[in-house]
Amino acid sequence: MKDQWGREIDYMRVSITDRCNLRCCYCMPHGIPWAPMADILTLEEYAQIVSCGAALGIRKVKVTGGEPLVRLGCCDFVAMLKQIPGIEQVTITTNGVLLGRYLEGLLAAGVDGVNISLDTLDAGLYRALTGAGELEQVLNAIKEAVKSCKGRKVPVKVNAVSLNLSEVAKQLGYAYHGPGWPELLELAKGYPVDVRFIETMPIGYGKQYPPVGHQEMLSYLKRQYPGMERDEGFHGHGPATYYRIPGFQGSIGFISALHGKFCHNCNRVRLTSKGFLKSCLCYEDGVDLRKILRGSETGQRKQDQLMEGMRQKIWGKPAAHCFEYPEHVTEYENMAKIGG
Ligand code: SAM
Ligand code: SF4
Repeated sequence: MKDQWGREIDYMRVSITDRCNLRCCYCMPHGIPWAPMADILTLEEYAQIVSCGAALGIRKVKVTGGEPLVRLGCCDFVAMLKQIPGIEQVTITTNGVLLGRYLEGLLAAGVDGVNISLDTLDAGLYRALTGAGELEQVLNAIKEAVKSCKGRKVPVKVNAVSLNLSEVAKQLGYAYHGPGWPELLELAKGYPVDVRFIETMPIGYGKQYPPVGHQEMLSYLKRQYPGMERDEGFHGHGPATYYRIPGFQGSIGFISALHGKFCHNCNRVRLTSKGFLKSCLCYEDGVDLRKILRGSETGQRKQDQLMEGMRQKIWGKPAAHCFEYPEHVTEYENMAKIGG
């Protein structure tokens, strides 16, 4: 359906857990309490909400978290979503740690795309930044995913938050120098994967890590790769701007939520692991669908209430975020709770 500003809202990000097996410093550092399991929706409850979303025009779903692969039944959930009439595309974003174990299950369930989050190719910094992660495991997962997804035409993308890695390392007490992010391009050179940089957003712990501006990154890359040019090919429905570098198998994408504000084209809503539907990342506003799901109404009346709550929130979606005025940001949750 369209919102009050005429934007077609057809994409829902669904966070199926607030738990994670990593502790990325900008997202969920050590010591963050998790919600009691009873507060987290069951997979059937998320699916019920997605069904209502589909009736309102949602066509694409991103399964996220926390780390979605730590939620038991994640592959079955993907299969469940794929059965919902109207849902055309189900993709997942993961830190990759458990991907080796679940890749075949996801593909069998019909997943349409796999995004793997990875911010550095320095094994020590990766461990420091993620609190626990083993880089080798994620690199192997990327290689495996590329191999298995290729024949099935399932795109694999690598997402990196645009961080000043020397600054991050300093804050974490790890010795590291250099920008770090240019090394990630090696993945797009060696494999048919798009490497996308996402401007760090001032949500939760992300506020402590000032983003590296994408203009600055682009200027650097253009000096390094004079043959680099805009890639106008289709890479999905997201807001990334892509570039091709001669000799590279994948493209380089920039998702510039702050400096290339794309709110006028925003097509998404977000469902948190507790069943709270948010229409903009920036504001705490939303509708508590869990309350409706677990309320006293039954059958069609419950369904009607869910639909009405969702319809109102989608229609009332704010025109734009206000990240450029951090004092106006009202969202206080961590990214892991919201799903990114
Ligand atoms: N655990 C999964 C993963 O890492 O892909 C899914 C959840 S994670 C919250 C989704 C994405 O949000 C990741 O790519 C992560 O890097 C990104 N993210 C977390 N905090 C962020 C922030 N403050 N600004 C921008 N992206 C952020
Ligand atoms: Fe976990 Fe993903 Fe957040 Fe890292 S970014 S702590 S992997 S949810």
